[in-house]
Amino acid sequence: MQCPSCQNTDSRVLESRAADAGRSVRRRRECLNCDYRFTTYERVETVPISVLKRNGSKEIFNKNKVISGLTRACEKTCVDTEKLEMIVDEIELKLQQGNLKEVSSAEIGEMALEQLKGISEVAYIRFASVYRQFHGINDFVATLESFKSEKKEQLATVL
Ligand SMILES: [Zn+2]
Repeated sequence: MQCPSCQNTDSRVLESRAADAGRSVRRRRECLNCDYRFTTYERVETVPISVLKRNGSKEIFNKNKVISGLTRACEKTCVDTEKLEMIVDEIELKLQQGNLKEVSSAEIGEMALEQLKGISEVAYIRFASVYRQFHGINDFVATLESFKSEKKEQLATVL
């Protein structure tokens, strides 16, 4: 790694820290020639994932878009931006690990729901109503029921 100050290529690492949810490593370095200190980031090269939308068009998976969609569903709930970022990081990681080159927006919605389920009932229901586009009250009740029975199962395993 070339020193930004003197272009010398030998440096020593002072500190290494995981960054970006563990997918990159931040290194604090010191040039062996001039003692200049600088920071480098090392990250795994990732393949862009395309998202197939309901209307048939495709776009590149965009974390910020998913976050803003979730933010609307989670307004006035206990789910803050930090949690939403974690949720979307998790989704992106799963997509990358699954080596998927294409995913549908509905699948991303389901993955987000899966994560919200453990965090906030209100946010889960609101997001489900948007993503699954409830067809009438029965759909809504069915989602609510499935949420409740899974909660009970979780409780049962804890007890
Ligand atoms: Zn230097």
